[in-house]
Amino acid sequence: MSIKVYYEQDADPSLLRDKRVAILGYGSQGRAHALNLHDSGVEVVVGLRPEGASWQRAKEDGLEVASCAEAAQNADLIAFLVPDSQQAKVYQESVEPTLSGKQTLLFAHGFNVHYHQIVPPAEVGVVMIAPKGPGNLVRKLFQDGQGVPCLLAVAQQGSSGQAKATALAYGHALGGTRAGIIETSFKEETETDLFGEQAVLCGGVTALIKAGFETLVEAGYAPEMAYFECLNEMKLIVDLIYQGGMAHMRSFISETAKYGDVTRGPCIVDDHVRATMKEILSDIQSGKFAREWVLENQANKPVYNALLRREAQHPIEEVGQRLRAMMGWLKK
Ligand code: NAD
Ligand code: MG
Repeated sequence: MSIKVYYEQDADPSLLRDKRVAILGYGSQGRAHALNLHDSGVEVVVGLRPEGASWQRAKEDGLEVASCAEAAQNADLIAFLVPDSQQAKVYQESVEPTLSGKQTLLFAHGFNVHYHQIVPPAEVGVVMIAPKGPGNLVRKLFQDGQGVPCLLAVAQQGSSGQAKATALAYGHALGGTRAGIIETSFKEETETDLFGEQAVLCGGVTALIKAGFETLVEAGYAPEMAYFECLNEMKLIVDLIYQGGMAHMRSFISETAKYGDVTRGPCIVDDHVRATMKEILSDIQSGKFAREWVLENQANKPVYNALLRREAQHPIEEVGQRLRAMMGWLKK
């Protein structure tokens, strides 16, 4: 299996020359995309709620700002960089009424298109450019002459037949082709993103930390010790893995730690955990998770808010607050 990667020479920046790009949203990604495209010579208008907090910030950054509807109306390309939970509403209220086959819609995450919360007409091009890094890094590396790797996907080419080439031109203006743009699909990006955050990154890691903490505290060890061993040192290990992979991390830990790692790790993430991971993936693939989350939002998030409240009351938060107060370097 080989994946396609696009670089500078694969993009045709002229496709965005004399074109108007509406960036809807000015948060983590929106600000970086708007400023990078602007600096690349693309005509940019930022679409926001007139009463919103981002409006002033975008103005101060020297950009043209308008309501989402005004920004979208005259744009050749419309980038959806408002939160995923707001995109369907913004599409229906501000984009759909004036949408035409001359326009291309661009996303930085595939949820709403893949799960049919947004269903554009066939003549409209629908693409994704998703930087694999936070907005501040997308902006900073661009200013340093580098770029963050991105994902590219095409949901539909539209009647122009140019949607993919336009997405590459966008990725070029964003700085993405400097690092490489990897081709994927809306399905693959969306499903792997959800699985990663649920099973490993957010859900998996926090559950693992809490389970380790609770095991030590229930066995009579001091919560402070449990915090250091199960949470605080996580960063050290993850930074090493991020920098150079598993073997690199293992070259920094003791022989005892390494032996415990390779013999006990597989007992923790055993066949039962793998079976649960498959169930979680299956709920993502079937759309069950997406339906649950869409309905939860429509119901004003009662379950979500209750669970977050319970998480905030976990003893690890209280001991963590006390211990972090001793770590002067964290205060900045
Ligand atoms: P964000 O929460 O940082 O910013 C959202 C922006 O949208 C803010 O400017 C907010 O004022 C504005 N906004 C909110 N509701 C609005 C509405 N109803 N109408 C108009 N404007 C509204 O969002 P983000 O993290 O930049 O995410 C944007 C997209 O990028 C999402 O699809 C997300 O999945 C994707 N993405 C994010 C990251 C990341 O690092 N944060 C990385 C890759 C992809
Ligand atoms: Mg994610």
